[in-house]
Amino acid sequence: MATKFPDAPKIGMVSLGCPKNLVDSERILTKLRSDGYQMSADYAGADVVLVNTCGFLDSAKEESLEAIGEAMAENGRVIVTGCMGDEAELIRAKFPQVLAVTGAHQYEQVVNAVHDASPPIPNAFVDLVPEGGLKLTPRHYSYLKISEGCNHRCSFCIIPSIRGDLVSRRIDAVLREAEKLVSAGTKELLVISQDTSAYGVDTRHEPRQWKGREVRAHMTDMARELGQLRDADGKAPWVRLHYVYPYPHVDQVIPLMAQGLLTPYLDIPFQHASPSVLKAMKRPANEAKVLDRIHKWRAICPDITIRSSFVVGFPGETEADFQYLLDWLDEAQLDRVGAFRFEPVEGAAANALPGAVPEAVKEERYQRIMEKTAAISAAKLAAKVGRVLPVIVDEVGEPDEEDGSIGATARSQADAPEIDGNVFLRDVGEGRKAGDIFDVLIEDADEHDLYGVPV
Ligand code: SF4
Repeated sequence: MATKFPDAPKIGMVSLGCPKNLVDSERILTKLRSDGYQMSADYAGADVVLVNTCGFLDSAKEESLEAIGEAMAENGRVIVTGCMGDEAELIRAKFPQVLAVTGAHQYEQVVNAVHDASPPIPNAFVDLVPEGGLKLTPRHYSYLKISEGCNHRCSFCIIPSIRGDLVSRRIDAVLREAEKLVSAGTKELLVISQDTSAYGVDTRHEPRQWKGREVRAHMTDMARELGQLRDADGKAPWVRLHYVYPYPHVDQVIPLMAQGLLTPYLDIPFQHASPSVLKAMKRPANEAKVLDRIHKWRAICPDITIRSSFVVGFPGETEADFQYLLDWLDEAQLDRVGAFRFEPVEGAAANALPGAVPEAVKEERYQRIMEKTAAISAAKLAAKVGRVLPVIVDEVGEPDEEDGSIGATARSQADAPEIDGNVFLRDVGEGRKAGDIFDVLIEDADEHDLYGVPV
């Protein structure tokens, strides 16, 4: 007779907020799976529900509280973790029945809280963790988190007060994780942190041995090593750098992009261009020569995509400041831009700044910046029509009922998942799957997306 094991407890997970939070959720789930827990896709089947919250903006807090409320109503056995977990009193006041509240990155505490709420079945005989850990993102792309916290004190941001100062991971640990991810099927690595250019500043760029050579905990060394990873078929993964501030050493990674070792893509959250607004924001690497450097980067690597985000309506922003930003954008010709209306965040220094911008003015500036950046994006994408570009497939469609043709949603090197555009493909043929990388002819473009066919 076969041995019958008791059913393993099941965990439900609600993950809110940014990709960084997703990485935390993945880590927690990986640990719980290795402790013998199973996952539940719905509230009803879960013994405990974990809500991984985000507390960055007041609107994110609202969303987090709503998610906790929903989990309480649907299941009732809820553990709260993540950024909002640092406000345990507020959560307990609203939801006295929550089983436990733990803060951001307190992996052990969350796992212990789950053990207390629903003890694991001892002696699980099987290793439940697939190589590379459990991932909530599709298997073909993975976020690689290189540090926690931030040494800057931007006046609109409360992340340093929630997450503390910069703590960088060891370079060999980062590279080992990246290597494992790639050998487990990841085709695209997305490097994330609060400030990727500052990686290793806290450890004085401590070098470690990696593959018989000394590698520093430094963005340039890391980028060079990541660019040398190969999958089982000997192919290089795409490697994308996010949250990069334009410190001088960023110039050193541009040649790596030109050589094809790094995806020619930089995500630099400029937030503004006007010197007085940048000063009031206390932004890092705020210097006047950025436009010259962008021109130089494009001279070295003409295909580089620069993505950024901007805040309009920051306290004290005048019409002249805003016009400066629009003119700057005309010059910079950034490929991808996200814009936000300034929103005060509880606890942020910026809230006390004079010169609050009326909502109607914020809205009007928001519309103007969106119009400007959409026009730049449309022109840049139109210039790609007729070119042959590599794409990575995110999803393959079902065969068309009439002619059997198959379409797919893919991305070019200019598109990071979830935040940028897509390349919609026709007639991809049979046998394609998510993560495949191949060349396509770009046939059409609109404001944000491209359309193409495999060559
Ligand atoms: S760089 Fe500024 S905005 Fe980014 S996490 Fe640090 S303080 Fe916040």
